Amino acid sequence: MLSLSDQDSPVRPGVPEISPEPDWRRELRLAFRSPRALCEHLKLPPELGDPAADSGFPLLAPRPFVARMRPGDPADPLLLQVLPRPEESQSEALPADAVGDLPSQRANGLLHKYRGRALLMAAGGCAVNCRYCFRRHFPYGATPKSDAAWDPAIEYLQSDPTVSEVILSGGDPLILGDARLERLVARLADIPHLRRLRIHSRLPIVIPQRVTDPLCDLIARLRLRVVVVLHTNHANEIDDAVSEAVDELRRAGAMVLNQSVLLRGVNDNLEALVALSERLVDIGVTPYYLHQLDMVAGVRHFESTLSEGAALVESMRRCLPGYAVPRFVQEQAGEPYKTLLA
Ligand SMILES: *Cc1c(COP(=O)(O)O)cnc(C)c1O
Ligand code: SF4
Repeated sequence: MLSLSDQDSPVRPGVPEISPEPDWRRELRLAFRSPRALCEHLKLPPELGDPAADSGFPLLAPRPFVARMRPGDPADPLLLQVLPRPEESQSEALPADAVGDLPSQRANGLLHKYRGRALLMAAGGCAVNCRYCFRRHFPYGATPKSDAAWDPAIEYLQSDPTVSEVILSGGDPLILGDARLERLVARLADIPHLRRLRIHSRLPIVIPQRVTDPLCDLIARLRLRVVVVLHTNHANEIDDAVSEAVDELRRAGAMVLNQSVLLRGVNDNLEALVALSERLVDIGVTPYYLHQLDMVAGVRHFESTLSEGAALVESMRRCLPGYAVPRFVQEQAGEPYKTLLA
C-alpha cells in the first residue's frame, strides 16, 4: 500500500499492452499524487498541500473519489482522509504494529489470528492512501509478489481443516487484476474445507469501475460463498456509481457489508454516522463494523476517545433500525475476536 508493487503497476514502460487498459486501471494511473495539484483542483490554497515533512506515505487519491469532495472546503470529510497534514509528523513514537499482526503470521502474507478465518494479504498496494491507516507502516515488501509466492499460504490453508473462510485483504486485494485474482481464487476454491471467501476492499468506493464484468462472473461462478466488506467512512463517499457497483456485486450473489473507522473531524458526530448508515442501507449494504482508530505513529489527530465512540453508537441505536447500527470494535493484540466496545 505504500506504493504499487512492480507487477501491479498499471503501466509498464517499454512493454506493449496486449489488451486495452481497463477503465479502473486508467483511473488509478490518473489518480492525484501531488498534494498541491489536488489543492489547486479543489480551489484550495496550494500551500495547504505542503506538509511539514515527507512521511514516506504519499498522497494517492483517485479522481472518482476526489469528484465527491466539496471544492473550496479545507474541512471536507473526504479530503481529510487523503491529504497529508503537518500533524502526522508531530505525533509521538508509537508501535508500527499496533494490532499485533506480526505474531499471527503463519506463512508469507497469511495471518491466522481468529478461529476459522485466515487473512491473506493478497496485495501490497491500495487505490487510495488513507492517512489514518494502521497499515501505513506495515512491511509490505514481505507480501507475495508472484503467484508462486502464495504457495506457502496455500499449503498452510490446505493443512488446517479448521479454516473455513479466507479473507483477502492487503493493501487492497482488488488492486490485483481480474486474471491474477482469478488464479488465486481458483487455488482457494480447490481447498475442500474452505466455504467462504471474504474480500476486504475500498476499491469499489474510490474507483467503482473496479467492479468489472469478469469480477462479477468470478463471484457468481465460485463454489465459495462470497462476502464483500467495503470500507466507507462518510455518506458523501457514496454516489450513484458506487451504488451501481454494489448492485452488480449483489446481483453476482455477494453479501455486501461495510466497515468504517471512527475519525475525528470526518465522522465523529451523530449526524454523520446516521447519514452514513442510512445511505449504506439504501444502497443495499449492511453496516458491519465501526472501528476505534488503531494507534500508530502519525494518526493521533484522528483519534476520538472510546467513551465518545461508545456514546455515539448508543445514540445511533436510538434512531436507527438494529441492522443499521454497526458494532463498535477495537482490535486488541492476543484477543480471540475483535473487542466489542458498544
Ligand atoms: C479483523 C480480522 C479478521 C476478521 O474478523 P471478523 O470479526 O470475522 O470480521 C480476521 N483476521 C484478522 C487478522 C483480522 O484482523
Ligand atoms: S484503509 Fe484500506 S484502502 Fe486505505 S490505505 Fe489502509 S489498507 Fe489501503
